[in-house]
Amino acid sequence: MVNLLIDMNDYTNSTSPSKQRFLVLIIVAILIFSVLPIGKVKAQATTYPEYVVVSGDTLSWIALRFDSTLDDLLALNGLDENSMLRPGDRLKIPSLAGMRGILSTEYVPLGSSLTSLSRRSQAEPADLIRANNLTSPSELFIGREIILTHIEDAPLMTTMASLRQGQSFFEASVLAGQNTWNLVRLNRMANPSRGLPMDTYYKPSDVESPSNLAIPGLKEIVVDNLPLLQGDTFLIEVSSDEPVTVKASLAGVEPVFVDMGDGVQMGYGGVNALTEVGVYPLTMEFTNAEGATYRFDQYVMINSSNFATDKPLDVDPESVDTEAEKAENQVFKEIVSPVTPVQQWSGLWYSPAQDADCIISTFGSRRTYNDNLRLYYHTGLDLGYCKGVDVYAPAGGTVVGVFPDQVVRGNAIVIDHGLGVYTTYMHLASFAVEEGDVVEPGQLIGIIGTTGRSTGPHLHFEVDIHGTPVNPLTWLRREFP
Ligand SMILES: [Zn+2]
Repeated sequence: MVNLLIDMNDYTNSTSPSKQRFLVLIIVAILIFSVLPIGKVKAQATTYPEYVVVSGDTLSWIALRFDSTLDDLLALNGLDENSMLRPGDRLKIPSLAGMRGILSTEYVPLGSSLTSLSRRSQAEPADLIRANNLTSPSELFIGREIILTHIEDAPLMTTMASLRQGQSFFEASVLAGQNTWNLVRLNRMANPSRGLPMDTYYKPSDVESPSNLAIPGLKEIVVDNLPLLQGDTFLIEVSSDEPVTVKASLAGVEPVFVDMGDGVQMGYGGVNALTEVGVYPLTMEFTNAEGATYRFDQYVMINSSNFATDKPLDVDPESVDTEAEKAENQVFKEIVSPVTPVQQWSGLWYSPAQDADCIISTFGSRRTYNDNLRLYYHTGLDLGYCKGVDVYAPAGGTVVGVFPDQVVRGNAIVIDHGLGVYTTYMHLASFAVEEGDVVEPGQLIGIIGTTGRSTGPHLHFEVDIHGTPVNPLTWLRREFP
């Protein structure tokens, strides 16, 4: 309406007053006809998006999934509670009245934004917000299950090669063998001159690609071990076909990336056990050989590990919160912080004790010492000696420290496994290795004891990543590449 009047004003500048009146009449007539009902008026039927039933679905689960009531779902689809569902059946979803298309669910991939999900699925951003009850961008964290609507017969979409610095969207669409205006429409852009180098654009394809990431030179980014827990280990793996410098930051942790060859870089990180549960931005930055920097944020959920609280422990007051403890902590923090660039472990780790199930205390439990109010958390896994007293190297590595008679740790050994991953063995009775020894998985390294701040014979087994203690059970239960 506004556009129409502006156009008319432009046009009438060069026409006579009588022509002007004639034009106004025609326009008024068009406006009247366009609002008058012509012939029978059809009531506008409400549309509903459809859900395609898959094996294992039940009517009540589907109602719950889409925030609807079972009664409404049955009524809208002409069903009753005894109706059988078959895979492939289509159900209209009453809670999403006004939307259209086929509903599907997927897990939010890395690099997603509301805009990129909307472009790929060709759904209205408003519909995505409504179908998922989104109230903030932080709710699109990686790994969250999200409901998408797909318009039937809409083309499948795949990520386009991203725009280089200074490259226009027009140029990129020609290189992709696509019609620029078609791509502008599919990507919901106002104008091809608005193309941005960091934005993700899609083109029609025979197969749909769930990738939402388009950064020049990058092939893939994988965040491993999601969903993360407090005290968890995570690994970011970046594959690129040109040299890039990678930086990442998540909840105060900055993994150090090591070149593994073949264009692959890996960075290990450890989530602090005291990190508050919540959604945190993972910020990643890539700088290529020309010095151009690309950056993106994606939210990551850090879930609760439900750490226990131990009953207050009574230990030698000399070993708690003293200058000696602080000095010792500093020495150990420094020894487990450097990142040596060679991975010395492979596959799943062995238990360092003879009985892996003889667990006295798990990682992360909150503790206090001698009625002192200061909160500590247990930085390792305490293993007893149910079957024997031998202590083994759980994986290949180099012994970087053999420390006798420490105030807190007693007799302790530190092994560097490479890529910023270290293990520490505390309260030992004796040592079976020396500093500088290269150890094989399963090699005897010491004997369980009760030296240092210990209330009875046990092995305190600790895994540190770049100086942060992480849950050792993660490393005993799953393989890291
Ligand atoms: Zn312990």
